[in-house]
Amino acid sequence: MNKDLAINGGKPIRNIFLPYGIQSIDDKDIEIVVDTLKSDYLTTGPKVREFEKRIAEYVGAKYAVAVSNGTAALHAACYAAGIKEGDEVITTPITFAASANCILYQGATPVFADIDPKTYNIDIKDIERKITDKTKAIIPVDYTGQVVDMDKIMDLADKYNLTVIEDAAHAIGTEYKGNKVGSIAHMTEFSFHPVKHITTGEGGVITTNDENLYKKLSLFRTHGITRDNELLLNTDEGSWYYEQLDLGYNYRITDIQCALGISQLQKLDGFITRRRKLVKKYNECLSKIDGVIIPYEEEYSNSSWHLYVIQIELEKFKGERKEIFEALKAENIGVNVHYIPVYYQPYYKRLGYKKGLCPNAEKLYERMITLPLFPKMSDEDLQDVVDAVDKVLTYYRK
Ligand SMILES: *Cc1c(COP(=O)(O)O)cnc(C)c1O
Repeated sequence: MNKDLAINGGKPIRNIFLPYGIQSIDDKDIEIVVDTLKSDYLTTGPKVREFEKRIAEYVGAKYAVAVSNGTAALHAACYAAGIKEGDEVITTPITFAASANCILYQGATPVFADIDPKTYNIDIKDIERKITDKTKAIIPVDYTGQVVDMDKIMDLADKYNLTVIEDAAHAIGTEYKGNKVGSIAHMTEFSFHPVKHITTGEGGVITTNDENLYKKLSLFRTHGITRDNELLLNTDEGSWYYEQLDLGYNYRITDIQCALGISQLQKLDGFITRRRKLVKKYNECLSKIDGVIIPYEEEYSNSSWHLYVIQIELEKFKGERKEIFEALKAENIGVNVHYIPVYYQPYYKRLGYKKGLCPNAEKLYERMITLPLFPKMSDEDLQDVVDAVDKVLTYYRK
């Protein structure tokens, strides 16, 4: 598509564009969705309950509440944590806007802690520096799939009496010290957007071991309305009776989506194995190219690898990241940047956030490029990416 832009006016490395991420859907997925369409329940039926049960089992948590998307899951978790106006919640700027927007939805204030320049995850020391007597919760993000050091985060939470909502949108299947992400934080959120490990089209889930949080999450998902006898204020009405106990939303997910989710979940381990293989190969090949910094993973983490992000040592090249990025795109490689620091967004600027807040995050943003990574990607696709990086960086090298 950008053929005329390829370096030396020549042929791009690839003729067909390689996306940075795409879902894997097979005939079995399609079959189970069609079966559900023919069943009595299109929404809030047996498939939702089964999907929740299987997600909870997979991550090793007691409860799971499936909702319409990952952002709704984060919003529900903020509600269940009791976050409200006047509260502060600490998160990272190197994330998708949803990790901070969910704080604003509850009328509270996002506080950004800087990142660790090695792992790119939130810097735990900076979290502690930014805790005030208004701080209510921490939303750490398992960026690219690498889990944050959860023991240290939970210690901080104990010390300052905070709720931890882990944004694990990138990290289903990731292990922390041998245990799957999803049962360590007070609540953990996963997303099933098509670029994530498994998909329901749109979808999300919160897992927790706390029954009280589970009840709040369930209420919030459906308008704040309940028929649960234990929660009803008035129990002597008829069986038609329900009560709205709080202001919730319609954040329900459908049986159609959960049917797809159940089918996808059966393939998750296979997807992760493939992602890990591709990352190993990327690391081997790209570590040989001068000027590329490959991802660094701590011992405690065994990432399921949602994204593969490299840093370019810009001081070794004539171009800026922008030129290098556009040149890779001209080779038909679906590069991306994850993420623009959240507080750079005009909306956040209007709220008063300023450049300079998180220097490590800002430096990373100038130098990072996401390369394609998804289970259907072939070894040849990967080689094309490596060849394109080599070609472009050779051209721009000082
Ligand atoms: C995908 C994602 C979410 C949730 O996104 P939805 O599209 O609403 O499912 C939240 N946080 C991060 C870091 C994400 O990547």
